[in-house]
Amino acid sequence: MKTLLPTSSAGSLPKPSWLAEPETLWSPWKLQGEELIEGKQDALRVSLQEQQRAGIDIVSDGEQTRQHFVTTFIEHLDGVDFEKRETVRIRNRYDASVPTVVGAVSRQKPVFVEDARFLRSQTGQPIKWALPGPMTMIDTLYDAHYQSREKLAWEFAKILNQEAKELEAAGVDIIQFDEPAFNVFFDEVNDWGIAALEKAIEGLKCETAVHICYGYGIKANTDWKKTLGSEWRQYEEVFPRLQRSNLDLISLECQNSRVPIELLELIRGKKVMVGAIDVATNCIETPEQVADTLRKALQFVDADQLYPCTNCGMAPLSRQVARGKLSALSAGADIVRRELTGA
Ligand SMILES: [Zn+2]
Repeated sequence: MKTLLPTSSAGSLPKPSWLAEPETLWSPWKLQGEELIEGKQDALRVSLQEQQRAGIDIVSDGEQTRQHFVTTFIEHLDGVDFEKRETVRIRNRYDASVPTVVGAVSRQKPVFVEDARFLRSQTGQPIKWALPGPMTMIDTLYDAHYQSREKLAWEFAKILNQEAKELEAAGVDIIQFDEPAFNVFFDEVNDWGIAALEKAIEGLKCETAVHICYGYGIKANTDWKKTLGSEWRQYEEVFPRLQRSNLDLISLECQNSRVPIELLELIRGKKVMVGAIDVATNCIETPEQVADTLRKALQFVDADQLYPCTNCGMAPLSRQVARGKLSALSAGADIVRRELTGA
């Protein structure tokens, strides 16, 4: 990356109201068939343009073509029955009715590769593509086949590796795996979670990232955060093993979070996507607030390894708020960039 402090968003961005119900997760599509395909591409163009106008350096599809960051990927796989549902506890936090793994999981055809090619054709900027991580995938399913979280994660890692290799060939510069589950199941993360992620990135030449956060700004997550006390030290449990992993970048939540910033010392040497935008509030950060968060992170992350980012995806926010937050991120990064270069 040639730009100092290159900005990006962690994941999803709001969809236009003609494509899906705004400010909702799992929002149903409003179009069908050919119209839906065209509508998704139009939304991707709009989302890209909004990122560009906000001055974002590493752009994405804003996840315009998927209903949900985990479910949509799994829907394209064999071995999972979406009609057969069981109630399970997601990330030890809330109950949800989830699909059942009924047989061996496999990917018959690419899931997002066409969408990535389309994004690539629309811009010469570096692009980042998000996929769900293996541990977060298994946490949204009832497994009646493998009956082993580790085994199922390993099978998903192999599938993700197939998809990632094709995304790389389509011209994706950074492939990011979303693993909010890494903030919950520490023993498993260290036993096999990070190993599964390394399986998913095996043989890739593009850059790879893992996004670990405290979740979207939905009620189940904000309620959970209230139980975590005055200091959130969850990252401390998994950073040492991640520091030794093959992943290039670690994306985490710093804005308005109670994460002690000095925990970043544990991943010294890695590139860090520092979340400097809170996605759980409609209040738009000032550029100075963003700059302040980045300056704190700079005590523990070398300037050429710091990537200003959002705490998490912004799909549940209004488009106006999301645009404002992206612009604030750019402006805040610009303040610190000037300080660093004396420009
Ligand atoms: Zn997130």
